[in-house]
Amino acid sequence: MTSPRDAGLKLLREHALIAGNPVTGASRIAVDDPATGDVIGHVPDLGAAETERAITAAADAFPDWSRSDPHARAQILRDWAALVDENTDGLAALMALENGKPFAEAKGEVAYANGFLKWFAGEAERLLGETQDSPLGHLILTFRQAVGPCALITPWNFPAAMLTRKLGPAFAAGCTAVVKPASQTPFTAIALAELADRAGLPKGVLNVVTGDAATIGGVLTASPLIRKLSFTGSTPVGRKLAEQCAPTLKRVSMELGGAAPLIVFTDADLEHAAEETVKGKFRNAGQTCVCPNRVYVEALVAAEYARVLAEKVAALTVGGAFEDGVKVGPLIEDKALDKVEAHLAALKKDGAKVLTGGGRHERGGRFFQPTVTLGGDDALFREEETFGPLVPVFPFESEDEVVAKANDSPFGLASYLFTRDLDRAMRIGRRIEAGMCGVNTGLISTPVAPFGGVKQSGYGREGSVHGIDEYVDVKAVTLALK
Ligand code: NAP
Repeated sequence: MTSPRDAGLKLLREHALIAGNPVTGASRIAVDDPATGDVIGHVPDLGAAETERAITAAADAFPDWSRSDPHARAQILRDWAALVDENTDGLAALMALENGKPFAEAKGEVAYANGFLKWFAGEAERLLGETQDSPLGHLILTFRQAVGPCALITPWNFPAAMLTRKLGPAFAAGCTAVVKPASQTPFTAIALAELADRAGLPKGVLNVVTGDAATIGGVLTASPLIRKLSFTGSTPVGRKLAEQCAPTLKRVSMELGGAAPLIVFTDADLEHAAEETVKGKFRNAGQTCVCPNRVYVEALVAAEYARVLAEKVAALTVGGAFEDGVKVGPLIEDKALDKVEAHLAALKKDGAKVLTGGGRHERGGRFFQPTVTLGGDDALFREEETFGPLVPVFPFESEDEVVAKANDSPFGLASYLFTRDLDRAMRIGRRIEAGMCGVNTGLISTPVAPFGGVKQSGYGREGSVHGIDEYVDVKAVTLALK
């Protein structure tokens, strides 16, 4: 029987894809397994010339694809989704190898990622327009038409889902794409592209380029042929790309960083709140844009909540992706550990108590102990995402105080609230400055919910009935009727 690891390696391809053809380069980028540091393969280090070729391929494929029957596009998305389902173990193992997340969790990501292909297959069939009588006596018809060839740039933390969340709506709308996956996790994107090809996606509709991010990003954003950029990644890079898109006035969507507050009131079910905090925080070892970055607990119950949370966190097994029962994997790179360490040191300096964990893991390498602290100053955690397995708990006294603290951040992506008081939930749910708010749950991401942020967390929405709007222009055709 093939092991999951071998199933993953079977899908590993060491080339980029332009116009349906594999492309290799003179120089290559090594991709390693964060659990061991061992190189698992290489991808080509492509530059400006290959990026221009990929743009030309996407532009050449656009007229036929954008005018194709949306039901046919829906069928290709469904056939692609069926192949993704069939290859779940292989894709999950490949992702576990290049990203380090536990294999079981990676399987969950494959299902989540595939949810976007399935959902947007349906959206292709619902590209509805409107009719309206004009005051000039005409009839106005609206059409939702594909924006054009798109540049899609994705991060390493969800190598499959961040891509299908863009490709699903792009293809449903009739857009073509040039994808630049993160250099640390390019293999999942390339494997997904190969499955799309097998599902019958016409050549040139999906192109994947790997290589130096600034060079590729510079060419993609400067090109007048690219009509839209969708970026998921850090706020500084997003800001730079938005600037680069200004001269050609591209449509832009930005899914950027967060510093999510999680608020627990005295009337909450503390056991449940702690359980959901673990679910929300420790996915991908705390390296998610929506994971709680700062936990505020009403002073009366803060010590009790923190005790329950610490007990649960201490029970999490840390290890390699394919080891039994592992819940928390390694961090993506060495400098990620430095950041978690610095955040922990700042808390300790401000008088926080470490309740569990408290440093690098005894396994060494890129493993960090799942850590809970109580007390200290929250200022740093409003400004910076830790992106690691550290939960700082801060006591608060009043609703107004905690909402002010939650909102006193440049970011506004996810937020969480635990209370049994429905009035309070609705009040705070509306007051909180975030694109998403989970009430009594730590899990808010699904293909059917709108995902996105406000403030420095970006703009635009992915998933849900809104996701396709990012990839269509509304065209008005006015008919003069006799
Ligand atoms: P990052 O450094 O911004 O990289 C993201 C992507 O951008 C990668 O493909 C990277 O390529 C590319 N890139 C880097 N510099 C570029 C440039 N000058 N021009 C064009 N592309 C460039 O972010 P990350 O560290 O990989 O990802 C973590 C961040 O993403 C966190 O801030 C997290 O909160 C955010 N995130 C947000 C969401 C959301 O939906 N809001 C979801 C997931 C993650 P290379 O890999 O080749 O450098």
